[in-house]
Amino acid sequence: MVKQVKQTFEDRIRVELKQRAEQQLIRFRRVATGPQAPMQQVDGKQVLSFCSNDYLGLANHPLVCQAVVKSVADYGVGSGAAHLVNGHSHAHHELEEQLAEFVGRERALLFSTGYMANIGVVTALLKRNDEIFEDKLNHASLIDAGRYSAANFSRYQHADLEQLAQQLEKSAAHNKLVLSDAIFSMDGDIAELDRLAALSQKNDAWLMVDDAHGFGVLGQTGAGTIEKFGLNQQQVPVFMATLGKAIGVSGAFVAGSNDLIEYLIQYARTYVYTTAMPPAFAAAASVSLRVIQQEAWRREHLQDLINYFRQGAADLALDLMPSATAIQPILVGDAERALALSNALWEKNILVTAIRSPTVPKGTARLRVTLSAAHSIEHVNQLLEVLAMHKA
Ligand SMILES: *Cc1c(COP(=O)(O)O)cnc(C)c1O
Repeated sequence: MVKQVKQTFEDRIRVELKQRAEQQLIRFRRVATGPQAPMQQVDGKQVLSFCSNDYLGLANHPLVCQAVVKSVADYGVGSGAAHLVNGHSHAHHELEEQLAEFVGRERALLFSTGYMANIGVVTALLKRNDEIFEDKLNHASLIDAGRYSAANFSRYQHADLEQLAQQLEKSAAHNKLVLSDAIFSMDGDIAELDRLAALSQKNDAWLMVDDAHGFGVLGQTGAGTIEKFGLNQQQVPVFMATLGKAIGVSGAFVAGSNDLIEYLIQYARTYVYTTAMPPAFAAAASVSLRVIQQEAWRREHLQDLINYFRQGAADLALDLMPSATAIQPILVGDAERALALSNALWEKNILVTAIRSPTVPKGTARLRVTLSAAHSIEHVNQLLEVLAMHKA
């Protein structure tokens, strides 16, 4: 037997941390001491923030906060158990019914996080001899879901539906699932859901869409990217979105047929074997959904800010990506430069995080600017002024 040199956990940790540091890829946390808002208290100073996923400014909305307070008075804080034990409250149940109606599906099921929803659905649905097809730029939770499932896992180049068509046609898999972000989280572009749906149907595949960044923001009523494309339950059998971004709370849901939801209740392990989210979060999300339905101005104002920012950035010849959404990355390329730029903005009291590998491919480091309905045109002007001073 060949004796292998063993690397202890301590050695491994030290070596890998050192590598990350040498490549300028160490991540760190800034500490916020106040709510999500354009003017945020972070690491002891007031900064103008452009990196929240609170796209509609609801994370600290008075009615949403009140809903939490009232719910805590009714239910206390902890749900106490998993949904299938005794943790499933009326607040959870009502929210599920409200969500199903809002997105035009038969039924909806709450999960404690979007990451867990994706892992749970994919690992429950796919078996050996099935195949899953994913866009290479899908969110990490979708990629991980594909990896953890027992099925074969194929990835196609970003937005390359020709390649997907070829993969689908040559697949001999028993059941096929096409899985895509609706809005790609680091680039901000919108998937061609109509073509994805047609291609899936043509190849007897199911389409699952993760609308974490579109739900609440896009569509006539705010029901998201799937509403924007007008796709029904046959076209998108598995509708997934989160409640922690535009909804301003926490958690996620999957919506679809009665049978799909019943199946997930029985078989999705990340649903069955975890504590239900606090009922207060469900109550808050319910109120937030109502605000979204009643206040279309939030979506409209956000769209105005997006157009305004893109025009201003184009005037500065910044390298924007082809995004029509609240995610407006400025491509920098080199990780070290992206970090330096983010630090320079920080010195001017503007918070925009640098996104680097492995979150995005090497050589495509970027400043991920996100806009919110809580921003004003004046806020965007401040950002553009500072960017004008620092563009290299
Ligand atoms: C944020 C996000 C998730 C994860 O949702 P959490 O509720 O934060 O776990 C899943 N998919 C996409 C596309 C996301 O952007």
